[in-house]
Amino acid sequence: AIEIQGLHKSFGPLEVLRGIDFSISPGEVVCVIGPSGSGKSTLLRCANLLEQPTAGRVLVSGVDITDPDVDIDRVRRRIGMVYQQFNLFPHLNVLKNLTVAQRKVLKRGQAEADRVARENLARVGLADKERSFPAQLSGGQQQRVAIARALAMGPELMLFDEPTSALDPELVGDVLRVMRGLADDGMTMMVVTHEMGFARDVADRVVFMDGGVVVEEGAPEEVLGNPRQARTRSFLARVI
Ligand code: ATP
Ligand code: MG
Repeated sequence: AIEIQGLHKSFGPLEVLRGIDFSISPGEVVCVIGPSGSGKSTLLRCANLLEQPTAGRVLVSGVDITDPDVDIDRVRRRIGMVYQQFNLFPHLNVLKNLTVAQRKVLKRGQAEADRVARENLARVGLADKERSFPAQLSGGQQQRVAIARALAMGPELMLFDEPTSALDPELVGDVLRVMRGLADDGMTMMVVTHEMGFARDVADRVVFMDGGVVVEEGAPEEVLGNPRQARTRSFLARVI
């Protein structure tokens, strides 16, 4: 679970997040939507402290990760992050991509790291690709490897920042199917996405951000189907 309280983030004079409050319960899937520049990526980056918030608190399973005394590496281990660009290690095969951090960060032995890697490759439908290099895979396959790599660390929370935006349209479905499977398995997920169909079908809650604040949040059928705020309505009219 994650709880975001009074979160502000400025870059110099530019205030990008202007007081964000919301939380995600264990097993809940929250989709974050909003126009370009509204602060969605900054919010995710603050949620795992890739960016230091200017003010406010982020609690992960009750631990305030913005507390300077907290061991941030330990916290980050509990949060899986998947980006628009897959960020695989190009010089390592798929299996190695999944085992390096398990070995280095979690200090797992090779046999266990391999076993966990294979389990998670099977989970994303790529058991037969462990010897391939990233460049030999399609974008959709690379993104599924990136998801498997995050899962191999055993996160209690997964953050996704537009995971399908860099993909050719015909590859989007495979990645969304994997994410839907994770949701069905009870993973806690925060997903920034433009895929309104995914948000409608999979999200427990949709959060609409604009100008660094949460303008509206609620069940998908409310926020997407019957939005209360004019800003939400005009955004949806542009994207759907
Ligand atoms: P998009 O849909 O295009 O990905 P977004 O909602 O993810 O947009 P952010 O990437 O969070 O938006 O950016 C919000 C604002 O913060 C933008 O105006 C951006 O230029 C600014 N910004 C983000 N990161 C930095 C940074 N490191 N330094 C300065 N400004 C930044
Ligand atoms: Mg972004």
